[in-house]
Amino acid sequence: MVDLTPLRARFRGELLTAADGARYDTARAAFNAVFDRRPGVIARATGAADVIAAVTFARESRLPLAVRGGGHSVAGYSTIESGLLLDLGPMKGVRVDPVARRVRAQPGLTWGELDRETQAFGLATTGGRVTSTGIAGFILGSGSGWLERLHGLACDNLVAADVVTADGRLLTASAAEHAELFWGLKGGGGNFGVVTEFELALHRIGPEVLGGMLLFERADAVRVCRAYREWMRDAPPELGGGLVFLVAPPAPFVPQALRLLPAVAVIVAWFGEPSRGQVLLDGLRRAVPPAADLVQRLPYCALQSIVDAGNPPGRRQYWRSDNLRALDDDAVDTIVACANRATSPFSNIILQPGGHALAAVPDEATPLGGRNAPWQAHCYGNWEGGDDARHIAWVKDTERALAPWAAGHVSLNFISDADGGRVRAAFGDAKYRRLAALKRVYDPDNLFRSNQNIVPAPD
Ligand SMILES: Cc1cc2nc3c(=O)[nH]c(=O)nc-3n(C[C@H](O)[C@H](O)[C@H](O)COP(=O)(O)OP(=O)(O)OC[C@H]3O[C@@H](n4cnc5c(N)ncnc54)[C@H](O)[C@@H]3O)c2cc1C
Repeated sequence: MVDLTPLRARFRGELLTAADGARYDTARAAFNAVFDRRPGVIARATGAADVIAAVTFARESRLPLAVRGGGHSVAGYSTIESGLLLDLGPMKGVRVDPVARRVRAQPGLTWGELDRETQAFGLATTGGRVTSTGIAGFILGSGSGWLERLHGLACDNLVAADVVTADGRLLTASAAEHAELFWGLKGGGGNFGVVTEFELALHRIGPEVLGGMLLFERADAVRVCRAYREWMRDAPPELGGGLVFLVAPPAPFVPQALRLLPAVAVIVAWFGEPSRGQVLLDGLRRAVPPAADLVQRLPYCALQSIVDAGNPPGRRQYWRSDNLRALDDDAVDTIVACANRATSPFSNIILQPGGHALAAVPDEATPLGGRNAPWQAHCYGNWEGGDDARHIAWVKDTERALAPWAAGHVSLNFISDADGGRVRAAFGDAKYRRLAALKRVYDPDNLFRSNQNIVPAPD
């Protein structure tokens, strides 16, 4: 390990090494237990000055660097073997401006923490579907949430960001300053620097909304999928949610007869006037009567935590996602067949509807492609214990089975094996070239490479 003395002299936060025992082990744990890595040092930053110190130290000592916000990278990018893990977890500052409807937020916040602050003013922005997800990686990698059909992705709501670049400078990127860098941050991930503060647009939401889930037996899956597809076809932007293949939990709100059995859930997230939502919902209820109806008025923060219990830290994960160009009957049959072959009771397939605000953003406004896809399919392999190969094979088989409907342009948040091809495909060739040119300006030596990497363009 390199001599840490120069870093100790400049760093205010904790510096943890293996000698720190339990504190080090807690700090190095990643959400995805597949990545049990041992960094040489974990630098727990308290502010921008610490970030500058750690970035400068890593660059000058040629130490491999990984950056962590909330630690949810399913692909394991926020852990590292032997190098320096820059952990932004302690940076949880947040300030809501309810008049301007803006929030300034530091990168150690989770969505649960940020939603709590903005909801104190009846405001919210598109955030993660699991409250423990970090805001930082989420926003930089696109940021898909229940609010997206009404208010776009999280990156569409980014107004400005303070960024420490590879040379140790702190820049503010916005539409008015370092505009090309700002563009790259809206979906290009952590490739261009370490964001030390985000400014996000907020919207009037809640505090009470209509949400929850309709639960159906798995035997009805094909009918439910088709009915959901028809229901969503003309649904207004205020209706978010998705359709989830899951094993019903043994929870008190689940009828005894369904518990621990394969089921299908329609997650309902209605952000309009509640009685209008109920009328809309009746259409789906009539098409296929649910085995359990758990839709109710509830606080927005409760809706945001609705799938938390199924997503605890410390399980093993492997995920694949794609945009679908259509959800025809053959696609439905294929998805149901794949779901029925799931190798773990914790694994899910999720169908998410697109449209409205997602598609309304001009293609050139962000690096992302695939804005017009009507559906997204996510195959989430989650399991405990060993047998990784069997669970991973199920995820890959599902991806292969859905290939005839795949529209590509998977955003970085959902790319697991980030070989160059997948990262390029997220943006398309022209935008990838633009990002690679940007990377060359701000990180020519690819210091920030523990991510879905954009390789700096050659001279
Ligand atoms: C249970 C679960 C639920 C999820 N749900 C959703 C969802 O609903 N919608 C969605 O879009 N995605 C979702 N994701 C994917 C998630 O958004 C990404 O994994 C995201 O990168 C997580 O952000 P993080 O800060 O927690 O991750 P980290 O693991 O800390 O970081 C992820 C990546 O971002 C980089 N990074 C982190 N912070 C910074 C920073 N401040 N500056 C520069 N780079 C940084 C890291 O280096 C790493 O490459 C989910 C993931 C999990 C595990």
